[in-house]
Amino acid sequence: MLDVAVLGATGSIGTSALDVIARHPQRLRATVLAAGQNVEALVALCVRHRPRHAVIADPQRFADLRDGLRGAGLDTLPHAGDAALDELVGSDACRAVVAAIVGAAGLSSTLAAARAGKRILLANKESLVLAGELLMQAAHDAGATIVPVDSEHNAIFQCLPDAAAHAGLARIILTASGGPFRGRRREELHDVTPEQAAAHPKWSMGPKISVDSATLMNKGLEVIEAHHLFGVEAERIDVLVHPQSLVHSFVEFVDGSTLAQLGLPDMRTALSVGFAWPERIASGVAGLDLLAQGGRLEFEAPDLEAFPCLGLAFEALRSGGTAPAVLNAANETAVSAFLQGRIGFLAIPALVEQALAALPSSSAGSLDALRDADAQARRFVERAAHAHAL
Ligand code: NAD
Ligand code: MG
Repeated sequence: MLDVAVLGATGSIGTSALDVIARHPQRLRATVLAAGQNVEALVALCVRHRPRHAVIADPQRFADLRDGLRGAGLDTLPHAGDAALDELVGSDACRAVVAAIVGAAGLSSTLAAARAGKRILLANKESLVLAGELLMQAAHDAGATIVPVDSEHNAIFQCLPDAAAHAGLARIILTASGGPFRGRRREELHDVTPEQAAAHPKWSMGPKISVDSATLMNKGLEVIEAHHLFGVEAERIDVLVHPQSLVHSFVEFVDGSTLAQLGLPDMRTALSVGFAWPERIASGVAGLDLLAQGGRLEFEAPDLEAFPCLGLAFEALRSGGTAPAVLNAANETAVSAFLQGRIGFLAIPALVEQALAALPSSSAGSLDALRDADAQARRFVERAAHAHAL
């Protein structure tokens, strides 16, 4: 029996993870469920999945969680706050951790899981962008296994399972759906709304990553994520737009062979790989019928002029140091302002670019230095956002 902590349980990935867990009662068990603010949704999940522990990030909501669990007649233990979450993740309450909190807020618990040597199903790409070296080192030192569940990286993981194959790796090609605005020119993006940006054509996801997909920042974050997970430098990572979202990525080897992983766009496949690897378990996702999907796989180059975020992410990766942390924090702050209707869509890349220029990269040797760069970038963008206000 694998005891699993699902962090970000009320979100899109968390819900998919719980769906897979519920399909395998003899093999998987949700023992810790954690969420940010939504006590009612968390209690409802506890009724369904009967975990030993429930954690709400917001300390002010502890009493609500305690009363909600009691009211539902559950003996699930209530907890609140980041420190409580980190402690539980590192304890023997779980052996596997689904890291699916959105944004830099997920770093601390992901690091706690790495330091405790857990199996980590890593969806929270922002923690790798912010502190990739530290996180990979911590996982290595403690013998933690990181299985990426971001679909592209999960595809690469499946194509590149062992060190022997890794030695012959030539290039990684990440596929991108292109998002809801694929094919539009820059001038056609001025007045797009948060609703339009969040309506992804192929994947159903949380609001932040949906906007990241629309700006192509999601692919930029994934380039940095791939660099850390697979030890490949920026020059050997390419991006190819693939509107059908059926090929989840490619790996090219020095002998001219290219491997790909295909499947329907449903995160339960990647999560099942994460739970069972190297075995395979049912995920609830149907096999791929290419004819039923239109019989066609198309590929095109990304438009870096209309979607500058992808280029900015490559730049930040090449600069190294604190630049990826600045990129990530500036983007999170700008996306949040966009979702609140405070700035326009094109202000997102503009503000990220300004933050990278204003906060030159310095050494990223310590977690404190990275957190400092993150905080500075958030303050910078908050201030600059006023100048961009609608
Ligand atoms: P979501 O917005 O649907 O869910 C986010 C979850 O995080 C919620 O449960 C929320 O309560 C929790 N949360 C937010 N702030 C928190 C905090 N401060 N402390 C604790 N919990 C907090 O997001 P999502 O789409 O599920 O994405 C989650 C992560 O997975 C992101 O990093 C995203 O980039 C990554 N990811 C998602 C998908 C997808 O298909 N949704 C695919 C690949 C990667
Ligand atoms: Mg992805």
